[in-house]
Amino acid sequence: MSLQMPQHIYMDYAASTQLDPRVADVMAPLLGQFSGNASSMQNPHGQAAKRVVDQAREQVAQVIGALPEEIFFTSGATEANNLALMGISEYLKQQGKTHIVSSRTEHASVLMPLAQMQRDGHDVAFSDLLSCGMADGALVLNEVTPQTGLISIQAVNNETGVINPLDEIRDGIKDTGVIFHVDAAQAMGKIPFNVSDLGVDMATLSAHKVYGPQGVGALYIRKDIQRHIMPMMHGGGQQGMIRPGTLPVALIAGFGEACRIAADCLSGERQRLENLNTLFRAELDHAGIGYKINGHDYGDDSRNWRVPNIMNIRFPEIENEWLLEAVDGVSFSTGSACSAHGNKPSHVLDAMGLSAQESNESVRLSFGRFTTEEDIKQVAQSFVTAINAITALADAA
Ligand code: PMP
Repeated sequence: MSLQMPQHIYMDYAASTQLDPRVADVMAPLLGQFSGNASSMQNPHGQAAKRVVDQAREQVAQVIGALPEEIFFTSGATEANNLALMGISEYLKQQGKTHIVSSRTEHASVLMPLAQMQRDGHDVAFSDLLSCGMADGALVLNEVTPQTGLISIQAVNNETGVINPLDEIRDGIKDTGVIFHVDAAQAMGKIPFNVSDLGVDMATLSAHKVYGPQGVGALYIRKDIQRHIMPMMHGGGQQGMIRPGTLPVALIAGFGEACRIAADCLSGERQRLENLNTLFRAELDHAGIGYKINGHDYGDDSRNWRVPNIMNIRFPEIENEWLLEAVDGVSFSTGSACSAHGNKPSHVLDAMGLSAQESNESVRLSFGRFTTEEDIKQVAQSFVTAINAITALADAA
């Protein structure tokens, strides 16, 4: 079966990135030949598969400053978030630490396990946000009580691209024993993210957000808390029984290569993406289109609290549903891929204080490694044409 790829310009990188051709080159031979079972150490096929997995584990560990034995491969960030939160739940209860601090702008794969943990007797406090969508170190720390056992805060928001001040939060809980989990699915390869420097205890990663394959991700678990994690699935002895199951060798090799490439091109790429971001807005400004960026923006203060590749943008009085219909040749979304199909106003924008109407006037444009200046100019042109047409129709009505 072949997927008929539309000729649209792809502006939905936050939902999933294309496979980097270098990643595909690493994966192809492993898919083309039988790669063996990385746990079958008694035969050469298994040993070869294990070598591939070991190398990838090192590459993933290296990009976040972890040890290879602290990386647990999963099916993606959703599973990693579930394993981190549900996996530590019993331990927290045993310690009498049933209070958790998090934020309302987290991804559904954090919010849903937290809701389950609430039903299971935990008490979850959602910290207030700054109106720019950032968590605030002091506001998060304000929620911490003597019963707090866990803080779960994402590094980068998938709808707005806003970066959270993880270092402020970490500094406030140093030596308290509070476990710090970070969903870094949108951060890895986009901003420097080092678990050792940041003092993070668990971190969630996903390959298909960094030009790796869909269907694989990882949970980093600091060595000395691994014994407190209860597996969600029970099976063989793979990955210290924390995440059993036969390892998908080709996917893992692709993830490793994606991390290697990400580490290589972090700094220059960020500047290039920032230039594309600026270019898009300049094109809109030039055409006289009114818009507002949702979330912290460049120049709001001296530190850039947003990634340049995700732009959440509101066109006043233009419904995003109309734009989905009217903008020609561009693949984009109205929010997170995981909630967009419900067509409800975004929970992230809602938490930032936007009205349902403002939320319904907002779209998410996300781009990346394969986006060119020409693409950005064409996308801007498509938006300008669509918005002018919608405005003309509204004026005529
Ligand atoms: N967390 C964040 C911040 C995300 O952006 C996503 C993907 N939209 C996920 C978790 C879930 O990732 P996956 O698709 O790998 O399960």
